[in-house]
Amino acid sequence: MNVCVVGCGTSGPAAALLLARQGHAVTIFERVEDPGPVGAGILLQPTGMTVLADLGLLDPVLAMGARVDHLDGRTTGGRKVLDLRYSDWRPGLFGLGLHRGALFQALFDALESTGVDVQCGVEITSWDGRHALDANGTKHGPFELCIVGDGARSLLRGAGRVEKRARRYPWGALWAIVPDPNDDFGGVLKQEYEGTQVMLGTLPTGRSPTTEDRLVSLFWSMHTDAVDAWRAKGLRAWKDEALRVSPRSAPILDQLVDIEQVTWAEYYDVVLTSPIGDRVVYIGDAAHAMSPQLGQGANLGLYDAWVLADVLGKGGTLADYAERRWWHTFTYQWLNRIVTPFFQADGELLGALRDACFGPLCTLPFFRGQMLGALAGAKVRLFDEVPTDPPLLGGPTASRHPDRP
Ligand SMILES: Cc1cc2nc3c(=O)[nH]c(=O)nc-3n(C[C@H](O)[C@H](O)[C@H](O)COP(=O)(O)OP(=O)(O)OC[C@H]3O[C@@H](n4cnc5c(N)ncnc54)[C@H](O)[C@@H]3O)c2cc1C
Repeated sequence: MNVCVVGCGTSGPAAALLLARQGHAVTIFERVEDPGPVGAGILLQPTGMTVLADLGLLDPVLAMGARVDHLDGRTTGGRKVLDLRYSDWRPGLFGLGLHRGALFQALFDALESTGVDVQCGVEITSWDGRHALDANGTKHGPFELCIVGDGARSLLRGAGRVEKRARRYPWGALWAIVPDPNDDFGGVLKQEYEGTQVMLGTLPTGRSPTTEDRLVSLFWSMHTDAVDAWRAKGLRAWKDEALRVSPRSAPILDQLVDIEQVTWAEYYDVVLTSPIGDRVVYIGDAAHAMSPQLGQGANLGLYDAWVLADVLGKGGTLADYAERRWWHTFTYQWLNRIVTPFFQADGELLGALRDACFGPLCTLPFFRGQMLGALAGAKVRLFDEVPTDPPLLGGPTASRHPDRP
């Protein structure tokens, strides 16, 4: 097939690579003129790593990432809220703290060697079933399939009239990435909370894609309405508050000397009526953007790409793809909608409930297993799982997994 992919973030290049590997002629359009390794620290889950392993990119990505074995969340008073170790769920499993740019670079570099036609500086605004039209009015194609991976604020999703819901969360986060030369923040994703209005997190973020420095990311939860006031008060006032909440974060905060080092990120909640249309399929954030509370966005996007290629490689249809992805996507949309307010919300009730219940639940093997399965990106419905171990992807045991026909 002659295939076009819109968006060269995470899910787009993964789909392009997988389809080019199957022998399809793939063109990828990216609106940024000169896309580079930018972005926040993300937590790559075993599901995402499974797909990278199939792409032959896991080793370079592991080399750039920082292993995360433990999720440790406490109130500022020291009460345990989250205490989860991946290895309690499956021995040997772990998350990977990674600069989003390092993931981008690994995928982008691989595009070159697979013969994908990468066209940068081209903003696609609509798809007519055969052609992709760009912002200058140029018609590209014909293509037999358009894969839309243009992110949370997808233009094509709107043009294709498949949006059921696409709204901005009332809460987002400030984030910053700085060097962590002595690995002081290694191994653990740590969070501190005060109710549901204050949250500071640190994530080991592996190597910088540009300088090779070892990095750590700091996240600070904030209501969208509070951003202007935060900026007006200035960096000093915020650093004092962050230091009060998390004294251990002093080595990170000390490195922030200019407010421009701190970036504001908004989150979107996107639900589609259908991820497919006339020779078009929506993947990644374009199809199901969500808050990063469970650390799933990039993983779900990679998984979409993998399932799409698997379905097409076996002669399946877009409807088969939509069916295979439905439960996994639906499960995480709901989990995110249920879990996020326990960490980012107005009011006191949910924070108090979280502080009272989450810590004890983490000590009960059944609930710990369920929470870890959800964190690993594997949950489908209540008790099923998608594969998270690279050999399972194509291996003989794969058929028992619920994302398979
Ligand atoms: C602060 C923060 C923390 C996060 N933490 C995590 C985490 O821990 N774990 C996790 O898995 N995920 C996390 N995420 C989410 C994750 O980054 C996204 O889910 C993921 O990047 C989505 O990939 P994508 O390819 O679908 O979209 P994107 O990465 O947004 O890529 C879309 C691409 O399409 C291009 N584009 C847009 N419109 C057009 C157009 N019209 N024509 C051509 N090109 C276009 C864009 O320039 C971009 O390159 C986090 C996100 C944020 C903001």
